[in-house]
Amino acid sequence: SITGAAAWNRLFDETIASLRFIVDGTELTLELTLNKLQDSDGEIRRKAAEALSTVFRKELRIFALITNTLAKDKEISDRWRKFEDVADSRHLANRVEREVVDALVAAVREAYPRLSHRYYRLKAKWFGREELDFWDRNAPLPQVEQRTIPWTEARETVLSAYGAFSPEMAAIAKRFFDERWIDAPPRPGKAPGAFAHPTVPSAHPYVLLNYQGKPRDVMTLAHELGHGVHQVLAAPNGALMAPTPLTLAETASVFGEMLTFRKLLDSTTNQKQRKAMLAAKVEDMINTVVRQIAFYTFERKVHEARREGELTPEALCEIWMSVQAESLGPAIRLSSGYEPYWCYIPHFIHSPFYVYAYAFGDCLVNSLYGVYQNAAEGFQERYFALLSAGGSKPYAELLAPFGLDAKDPGFWQIGLKMIEGMIIELEGME
Ligand SMILES: [Zn+2]
Repeated sequence: SITGAAAWNRLFDETIASLRFIVDGTELTLELTLNKLQDSDGEIRRKAAEALSTVFRKELRIFALITNTLAKDKEISDRWRKFEDVADSRHLANRVEREVVDALVAAVREAYPRLSHRYYRLKAKWFGREELDFWDRNAPLPQVEQRTIPWTEARETVLSAYGAFSPEMAAIAKRFFDERWIDAPPRPGKAPGAFAHPTVPSAHPYVLLNYQGKPRDVMTLAHELGHGVHQVLAAPNGALMAPTPLTLAETASVFGEMLTFRKLLDSTTNQKQRKAMLAAKVEDMINTVVRQIAFYTFERKVHEARREGELTPEALCEIWMSVQAESLGPAIRLSSGYEPYWCYIPHFIHSPFYVYAYAFGDCLVNSLYGVYQNAAEGFQERYFALLSAGGSKPYAELLAPFGLDAKDPGFWQIGLKMIEGMIIELEGME
């Protein structure tokens, strides 16, 4: 491995780390340059995009060689192990059947026009334009004054959102506050981001946050407490069976976030603030669902084409552009310069086909939430049984009590319809 696939992975990492981009005369790393695509100044976003294009183009030969070599390496391994489809080894690792992922991908691709195409048309309108340039896709939405939410209020918001769904779930979440299992404030030297760590089933989970009082931070608290509740409920399965496969790992967290989002939204009377909250949520979901499925489609095309022979850098760029045009739609202008943007995405190199798990998790929860909204009766017991199983049952068995079948594209439509509903609500706020 160290002279094969691992070496190519390392070459990728070292190449990415060595890249420098010049934006407005300042030399930046990749991470900082990508961050500039979310700058509130459109000129800075354009300059950052140009710098990315220039450097990626210059390095295209090496990224194409890495991609080709690793795809061929995987093809040999897959053939020897008798995997039929290019993504079968990933499906096995995720403990999910190919038909289920196929149904998800088909449902999402079919929904592109109603989700991303429609949302970006709306976003372009907000910016007073017919089309957005590709560097404006993640441009921040017009800023809205948001008050700072004190910790005690965040706690009440999340616990009451959880409690309205199930008092039992709120009681478990409350233990995290009462027994001081949460480290909330940012401090110098503290790790950034947020997570819930299950430690060992005989102990209890810990939650780490960097709480700063933004609505986003309240959602993060709800998210991590969802993981925490899941970890507490699954603990009796023991250390080997408590952890869930990737496809189920985000169930309780995204569900808890959704309960809290709805609660925050319902208590917001200011129309501007409501619109900002909804738009941020929709954009998040499009980046998780649509974008990751487009990534997956790109990988499938690359790995399938590689079976027929080596791909030129131009061929890789062409696949990228066709997949992006399909998923982003006519309101995003994919002008020259966007072609090599596939080359920096680390998942393609480090863990082929991993990306669909993000969309899977989000869509699964949205569909579950849709079922809950349509018929709350008896939902809570079934949901608790699902969480309590940890990683001990296949998800098909877990979904059966809800009358759901993930091999059916109709199942995935329930969740996608929910995103569409939010976009319709946004359109109505014009
Ligand atoms: Zn999470």
